[in-house]
Amino acid sequence: MISTSIQRRLSLALLGLGGLAATVAAGPPTTKPAPTPPQKGVGINIANIDPSVKPCEDFFHYASGNWMKNNPIPASETRWGSLNELTAHNQAALRLILNDAAKNAAKAAKGTNAQKVGDFYASAMDSAAIEAAGLKYLQPHLNRIAAIKDLGEMQRFLADPKAPAGNVWFGAGVGQDDKISSQYAVQLRQGGLSLPDRDNYLKDDARSKAIRAAYDTYLVNTFKMLGDDAATAKANATAVQRIETRLAKASKGRVELRDPYANYNKMTVAEANAAYPNLALPLSLKGNDLGAAKEVIVGQPDFLKEVNTMLKEEPIADQKQYLRWHLVTSLTAALPQAFGDESFRFSQVVSGAKQQQPRWKRALSSTDRTLGFAFGQLYVDKAFSPAAKARAKQMIENLRVAYAERIKATDWMSAGTKAEALKKLNAFTVKIGYPDKWKDYSGLNISRESYLNNLLAAREWATKDQSSHFGKPIDRTEWGMTPPTVNAYYSPAKNEIVFPAGILQPPFFDPKADDAVNYGGIGAVIGHEMTHGFDDQGRQYDAQGNLKDWWTKEDAEKFNAKADAVGKQYDAFMPLDSVHVNGKLTMGENLADLGGLTIAYQAFEKTPQAKAQAKIDGFTPEQRFFLAFGQVWRTNIRPEAVRQQVQTDPHSPAQFRTNGPLMNMPEFYKAFGCQDGNKMMRAAADRSKIW
Ligand SMILES: [Zn+2]
Repeated sequence: MISTSIQRRLSLALLGLGGLAATVAAGPPTTKPAPTPPQKGVGINIANIDPSVKPCEDFFHYASGNWMKNNPIPASETRWGSLNELTAHNQAALRLILNDAAKNAAKAAKGTNAQKVGDFYASAMDSAAIEAAGLKYLQPHLNRIAAIKDLGEMQRFLADPKAPAGNVWFGAGVGQDDKISSQYAVQLRQGGLSLPDRDNYLKDDARSKAIRAAYDTYLVNTFKMLGDDAATAKANATAVQRIETRLAKASKGRVELRDPYANYNKMTVAEANAAYPNLALPLSLKGNDLGAAKEVIVGQPDFLKEVNTMLKEEPIADQKQYLRWHLVTSLTAALPQAFGDESFRFSQVVSGAKQQQPRWKRALSSTDRTLGFAFGQLYVDKAFSPAAKARAKQMIENLRVAYAERIKATDWMSAGTKAEALKKLNAFTVKIGYPDKWKDYSGLNISRESYLNNLLAAREWATKDQSSHFGKPIDRTEWGMTPPTVNAYYSPAKNEIVFPAGILQPPFFDPKADDAVNYGGIGAVIGHEMTHGFDDQGRQYDAQGNLKDWWTKEDAEKFNAKADAVGKQYDAFMPLDSVHVNGKLTMGENLADLGGLTIAYQAFEKTPQAKAQAKIDGFTPEQRFFLAFGQVWRTNIRPEAVRQQVQTDPHSPAQFRTNGPLMNMPEFYKAFGCQDGNKMMRAAADRSKIW
């Protein structure tokens, strides 16, 4: 069970994973940009603007309305925006790299990154071999599950890192201790579900019911393909849904998970073993090279209590179907197409996608997830220049200065809390482009023979790699995103902001464009990640990344009142009729969007362009700053995907990420001459300003 690795908690990204879903037609690989003087029209596409919409009524549709009309969502996508376009652009470059790697892998020395990347991608692309193999490579693992006879054997199976089970029962892994950020700790968290959210199992609205019905079909058809007769397949599907529904009932909701103190429960291994004896924790820890651990941090004690009960109460025969299901569903990409088709039919109900993504994009994403730091260097050589890194670094430092000014100027924070906030701001570690030290994949064996075996080998290796951190100093060279990723993040426990090469490109960042474009684009992203250090969650961590209260009681109360007001603004936003944004779930991201744009604007106002006040394409520097910001967020999205996003994604839909912050900014009203009564202009008493 320790073998299920958990994603590092609380890495507060710019985007949810939905925003990274890939793409259609792609341009040529990026070439190294060279800094040049600002040029007219570079960075903002005036043709994207819909002049029939007034900027003070709906800036999102004003800035990009024409683009939205002319760029329908491709059939294989659930949303389409500038981020998807940039991802597609990166994928085209990566595809060339991976095709070369696949071609040359046979010549590469066994065990080198070149061999591993080439053979991994080739095995993922070889649909004929996957089809011909059928269940051959899966069968030994299914047999092992079938052989389990009692709770003791179940415990030994779950404790064995070589026994692949997928995401079963709960999540476990090694990560930084929130209260002692200089140490790693073993952490146990709720998990074990297949549907995207606990509410999918529990709610009785039409969408939840449709998702459960589609899930039942997916389960039944998959069990049939594994050889069950119709009645057995149906019974097994029912058992899996029953077990997962029980887990869902014991799970906390997404808003409850946002409280770092409530989800931190440190206990000794002996205490945990006494509370949850059926989990056989000492056996699991020993099996995963973590026998030296004396303590564990339990995220949700009530959830583990229920798992402990279920392991005893649920019939072993049903538990085995639950395990069998998770094994298969976690490996559909490496099984015959019929399995992938069932999986896609189900995901269509959730996301609204019309077509499956082409195989090469799925293989590329899988290679990036598995070996992304092995070929990231080749990508960086092609797509990222030292000049781009230097300019990004300069912008980040300019924003840090602007943020310090805003902190000092706040009228609601005491001098003591301000001093602590500045200490934290100055302690931010900055990572740009790619890691200084590349990840070492030695010990991971990849061959061309079987994609399924490669996926399982990678899973086992990743678990071992994570466990190997335990007891050592914190590895501060590690990155949580690969270099081509179109995203960015803040890590509270490391107190670092990270910008992969993938996002340091147009429309976010263009060395050929004027400052307004870069400050409205990547500047707002930089400010967003910085503000995560001071949002409702991030503010609870100190300069060293420890979960520790450095606020006076009065300042914390004032902050919370301001944050609640922002929450109410977003609660009122409706992307679809009767579908509201959840202001509490999206709190951290909305605060980061508002703070980020404010800080970026403050830094932009210091640039020569802002001081000169010359127009480009008829727009003032300030108008261009806001236009660049608006155009970065241009997005079309399917209604199913919006419903899914509002339920599960801590990021608000794109139109509110654009209009939400602007509606609070007098700087925006002034730039576009907004008047009282315009929709984008809030009454003075209703405006939010934190930084
Ligand atoms: Zn964020």
